[in-house]
Amino acid sequence: DWINELLKLPGRQRIVSMQDKSMVLHAFTVSISQYDNKLWILNFSDITDSMAEKLQLKHQVIHDPLTNAYNRAYFNETISSILESHRNENKQTNIIFFDIDHFKQVNDTYGHKVGDSILVGIVNLVTKNIREKDYLIRWGGEEFIIITSSESPKDSYKQAEYIRSIIEEHDFEDVKKLTCSFGLAAHQYGEDINNTIKNADDKLYEAKSSGRNKVAE
Ligand code: GH3
Ligand code: MG
Ligand code: MG
Repeated sequence: DWINELLKLPGRQRIVSMQDKSMVLHAFTVSISQYDNKLWILNFSDITDSMAEKLQLKHQVIHDPLTNAYNRAYFNETISSILESHRNENKQTNIIFFDIDHFKQVNDTYGHKVGDSILVGIVNLVTKNIREKDYLIRWGGEEFIIITSSESPKDSYKQAEYIRSIIEEHDFEDVKKLTCSFGLAAHQYGEDINNTIKNADDKLYEAKSSGRNKVAE
């Protein structure tokens, strides 16, 4: 019986959804008091609007407004639970760090607005070509990381190489051709993740200095 199920939850979590006459779902908090052995008094408050607002605010806090990729705030908030869930699945966590090649030239040649739309284009392209369980994060201006899980670090090399080739082959508006360089690092259990990211960044530097449009591991 659903009242007893709700009573098992802390007061603030007693939330139900109901459809209105036009079949639109609304969220309600429920307060429950027992009147006598058989009767309960239930009080429903419609919180749909404030809940939607809260979700939207939450979305803004963890996404980059230009590209809608996750931002660093999201990374900081979720990285420990991501590492833990990979560990529970016996999976290797990998960091793929990438950076657009000669992006300053793009801005200088085509303007900052075109540069912005390239950033959006890259995020859309990469998002379409990673798995649902991977995380794409805008790390800085034109730098991104992807957090992946795999059976072995080799899988992450294949994945990065695939994304590299997808970007190389893509026709971007105005600019047409564009490449990115990639650095990889595997996370060792118990290691500070910032150290793994630094390792991936060092590898990215190797990819840049050995000619760009490459994956270094
Ligand atoms: P490299 O191949 O070595 O990475 O060369 P680069 O030109 O990409 O590297 P550099 O770090 O010199 O330049 C990065 C440029 O990215 C400079 C900065 O103006 C641009 N940038 C960073 N964030 C944004 C942004 O949000 N929008 C636009 N349009 N440009 C940005
Ligand atoms: Mg850079
Ligand atoms: Mg760059």
